[in-house]
Amino acid sequence: MLQQDTFQHKGLRKRLVDEIRDKGITNTDVLNAILKIPRHYFMESGFLKFAYSDQAFPIGAGQTISQPYTVAFQTQLLDIKHMDKVLEVGTGSGYQTAILLEMKARVYTIERQRELYLNAKALLEEMGYHPHFFYGDGYKGVPGYSPYNKILVTAGATEIPEALVEQLAVGGRMVIPVGDEGVQAMTLIEKISATEIKTSTHGNFMFVPLLKGTSK
Ligand code: SAH
Repeated sequence: MLQQDTFQHKGLRKRLVDEIRDKGITNTDVLNAILKIPRHYFMESGFLKFAYSDQAFPIGAGQTISQPYTVAFQTQLLDIKHMDKVLEVGTGSGYQTAILLEMKARVYTIERQRELYLNAKALLEEMGYHPHFFYGDGYKGVPGYSPYNKILVTAGATEIPEALVEQLAVGGRMVIPVGDEGVQAMTLIEKISATEIKTSTHGNFMFVPLLKGTSK
């Protein structure tokens, strides 16, 4: 059963949105989505205090729900438009997935940890969201539904996976943290033509690693 979403939660969310805006997020669709989605649903009920502070938090299976600012930053950089077809690699808690859905994207999301995949699927469906869920290795993307207008990778990669570049539509954007374990550069890849990409970096972040293969 879903936890309650009280006036107290809504008040905490409003403060969080103010904080993220102060840190430089300007896209109002992104800020509205953060205001709307109860982040505490994605964490165990005892951790309310952490749900609306701007920090990452453990969600099980050695993984974390991303920091709200990071979610907002990646989403803003993607420049999500209504009806964009978006591939998300690393469903995790499903929080970022809910933000994308709230922004009216059509979302395909893949997770390699079975427990997280099952939990996120159950929670999002209970909340009334119905993206396409996949359990598998997102390093290879989800070629069957490609091309995607946007691809969002929510784990740190040591290099840009070629399969993902292939699955990006011409005119599309991919946002992926790239670097060695520890710190990654937020990287934007714009697909200019079938054979050309433009790459730019947008500051440093810390993510759990993008791994290959699946895990039970
Ligand atoms: N968007 C998530 C972030 C979770 S952390 C959230 O806000 O909760 C990153 C997630 O990427 C983890 O759940 C991890 O298991 C997953 N992951 C790592 N490598 C992956 C891969 N190759 N394919 C799919 N998911 C992967």
